[in-house]
Amino acid sequence: MLKIFLNVSYAEKDKAKALGAKWDGEKKSWYITSTQDKNKFSQWIEEERIPNIKSYGFTICKGYEICWKCKQISQVIGILLAKNHEMFDHYIDIWDRVNYQGFAFYLCSINAGALKYINGVTQNYKLRLSKTTNSSYYMNTCQYCDGSLGDFHLYHLGGAFNPETKEAAKMIETQHINCEFYAASDGQVTSELIDIYLKHK
Ligand SMILES: [Zn+2]
Repeated sequence: MLKIFLNVSYAEKDKAKALGAKWDGEKKSWYITSTQDKNKFSQWIEEERIPNIKSYGFTICKGYEICWKCKQISQVIGILLAKNHEMFDHYIDIWDRVNYQGFAFYLCSINAGALKYINGVTQNYKLRLSKTTNSSYYMNTCQYCDGSLGDFHLYHLGGAFNPETKEAAKMIETQHINCEFYAASDGQVTSELIDIYLKHK
């Protein structure tokens, strides 16, 4: 039986449960099975997201973050897009080619080919519902306690992938993946700083 994951906010969880939704503890998400009546749950079923990021090759960066929950130092990853990656501009309906390396975050879907490489590097990058954005996206989770570590702050100054010092930058390991990457995202940041730091290595 296929599970259909629902985008249920905390405030609506009792309503979803009363209608027959079940809780998946591993994915931390409510779901229904394909045999249940989808119409009753349509308000929580996300439309399939169309990719708005394309990159020919990408780099998996490995860094470290202190878990807010268990206080242990957990490995986290960041997806660094190739220098000539493309982003879809919804306002004028065209693909824009950019000329900088950038981290992609708030990814709500990733192509299976790229995801296979990512899962080969870490088992802790998971699609989860964020209470902050009230949407599901791939985020790093703690390797010790499975707590959600979020995404956005990793790219802010002092975060795992925006190091303040050369020493912190040297902790970042990189692995280039020669595979096409396409994903749907609600956000994207540039990373000129990390370019500079990686050149020092
Ligand atoms: Zn933890």
